[in-house]
Amino acid sequence: MEFFNTVNVKDKTFEQYIGKYELNSIITDMAHRINHDYRNCSNHNPLIIIGVLNGSFMFLADLVKMLNIKCEIHFIKVSSYSGIHSTGKVTEILGLTRNITNQNVLIVEDIVDTGLTVRELYHQLILKKPFTLDICTLLYKKVNCKVDLNIKYVCKEIEDKFVIGYGLDYDNLGRNLDMIYS
Ligand code: 5GP
Repeated sequence: MEFFNTVNVKDKTFEQYIGKYELNSIITDMAHRINHDYRNCSNHNPLIIIGVLNGSFMFLADLVKMLNIKCEIHFIKVSSYSGIHSTGKVTEILGLTRNITNQNVLIVEDIVDTGLTVRELYHQLILKKPFTLDICTLLYKKVNCKVDLNIKYVCKEIEDKFVIGYGLDYDNLGRNLDMIYS
């Protein structure tokens, strides 16, 4: 049985958690902040927005439609694998063709959970010596975060719940849902 505010994906039922109205409101607020903070970006010095695939595509699409600053939009993928060193996880950045040295750069994420992925990404990008490097995420599970990293732009902090929809998947399904379910 499927009610209007639940959705079945594979073996699980998810309930509506963040509706369309709230998503629009928190993303609009974020766009205003970014428009203000990067108002000095120009054709020669645009904001370099880097969306982290796959999960960020829907958030990023809605966010950038509301930006009135000069910006470029790029996408990367991160692949995590176990390295041979004792540090364990190694994250490789795939698809970054833009030179970001001396540029204002904004990483756009769907969700930060433990923060390990975005910290690794941050550390790898900082080596390329951008002028500024900041992180924007739609959702932030602050209670789970294990790293000491300043996530400057957070649309919404959430509890420790598994969420899907609006780009986020459960076993690759559910990304197309137009709101967030838990
Ligand atoms: P972290 O390294 O911060 O622990 O995890 C980041 C990645 O884990 C996210 O980019 C996302 O792919 C996945 N993730 C973490 N929490 C959730 C969640 O609640 N739902 C979904 N669909 N993915 C999540």
